[in-house]
Amino acid sequence: MPSDFSQAIRRAGVVGAGGAGFPSYVKAASKAQTVIVNAAECEPLLQKDQEILLNFPGEVVHGLELLVSAVGALRGIIAIKEKHGDLVKILTQAIAGKSALSLHLLRDVYPAGDEFCLVFDVTGKLIPMGGIPLEVGVVVNNVETVYNMALAAKTPVVDTFLTVTGAVKNPCTLRLPIGVSQSEAIALAGGATVKDPVALDGGAMMGQVVDDFSKPLTKTSGGLIIIDRSHPLVRRKAAGRAAFDLAGKSTCDQCTLCTELCPRYLLGYDIQPHKVMRSLLFSSQDRKTWSQWSLLCCECKLCSLFSCPENLNPGDICASTRADLFQEKINWKNSALNRQAPPKDHPLRPWRQIPTFQLKVKLGLEGYGDDAPLRLEPYAPKKVRIPLKQHVGVPAQPTVKIGQTVQRTDVIGDVPEDRLGVPIHASISGQVTAIQDFVEITA
Ligand code: SF4
Ligand code: SF4
Repeated sequence: MPSDFSQAIRRAGVVGAGGAGFPSYVKAASKAQTVIVNAAECEPLLQKDQEILLNFPGEVVHGLELLVSAVGALRGIIAIKEKHGDLVKILTQAIAGKSALSLHLLRDVYPAGDEFCLVFDVTGKLIPMGGIPLEVGVVVNNVETVYNMALAAKTPVVDTFLTVTGAVKNPCTLRLPIGVSQSEAIALAGGATVKDPVALDGGAMMGQVVDDFSKPLTKTSGGLIIIDRSHPLVRRKAAGRAAFDLAGKSTCDQCTLCTELCPRYLLGYDIQPHKVMRSLLFSSQDRKTWSQWSLLCCECKLCSLFSCPENLNPGDICASTRADLFQEKINWKNSALNRQAPPKDHPLRPWRQIPTFQLKVKLGLEGYGDDAPLRLEPYAPKKVRIPLKQHVGVPAQPTVKIGQTVQRTDVIGDVPEDRLGVPIHASISGQVTAIQDFVEITA
């Protein structure tokens, strides 16, 4: 039976704001000993989570307390990098007197926020291979998600936070109505300062290159890093599968560096990207056998964008071969590699973790500052396009008609109670002017 809290965050449309948008009511209805707020925010240059914590520490702490209570946990922990000294002081004050809450200070390495790394660093427990944090009694949520949980009783998720940085006049973090276009967000940051701008949507490491800025912001928007189309990172990320496979097939010398620095391998998981590279030399069953070394990849892309001395793309190749295996219904549970063995962290792990500053240099982003302060001035868009699917699960079905007047926070799309998903709400007041796989509202 879902708790009142779980039902409230479902009604409010709360989903994991830091990733794919998994509906948060599912986690809130589980039982766990530990709740971790993931404030690692390890993508270089992005800082919306830091800005939320700086401006709304009380809300985040309140959301954490609600979640700790809902899942029956003994403790709630905010995991944040030790480099954020001022923020650590603010959070220490915000949790003062709350005996179940504490902070855990993380090293400034990439990808400190990967759930498997985070759970190990905070609790000392390794999630079983192919498992989820709940299997070691842990629930993990990102900062914005917990903030949205704190507000859920009063207001649904209608705004999103994102950092707009890189080659823009005024790098900043913004809180904007969901459905506003990326181009409006870039304009609010003063506009691009390069001739032919493209954006790394979601970050330099795990984000995608986009050059059509008409895309609307969603509940999972995290940040836009603007760079010029001529930046080497654009070529690296946008080359595509055929080019990655061809270069990998002809150039990989099996040096194994991609594996030796892989954060999941260093935790003891059976992932070895250099063996996935070998799969490119085979066809049919042999290819499938080698490809299975990608099944536990988290797609952090460290091997593609940092580790490989040949500038190959083992991380991208892991992602595509893994998707192929999933199509053929091969996953870790039924993989031939699954020996049911417990993972054991590598003794050299602490010395092989990659500092963020070094990563930033390798990415060619060292010229951009880390400062992107939150601006909270209201923004009143003329129009928003709110996607009906911003979450894992089934898309919401529109509950409004063209011509209908709606108020900000009204439900405009919903998902049946027995299906995975959450309702969608109007982010501005106005008239519904179009319905496709989005609802367009004109003020
Ligand atoms: S690091 Fe690059 S060259 Fe070395 S094994 Fe991995 S993909 Fe091949
Ligand atoms: S992208 Fe590369 S480094 Fe990251 S988990 Fe996958 S194989 Fe390991």
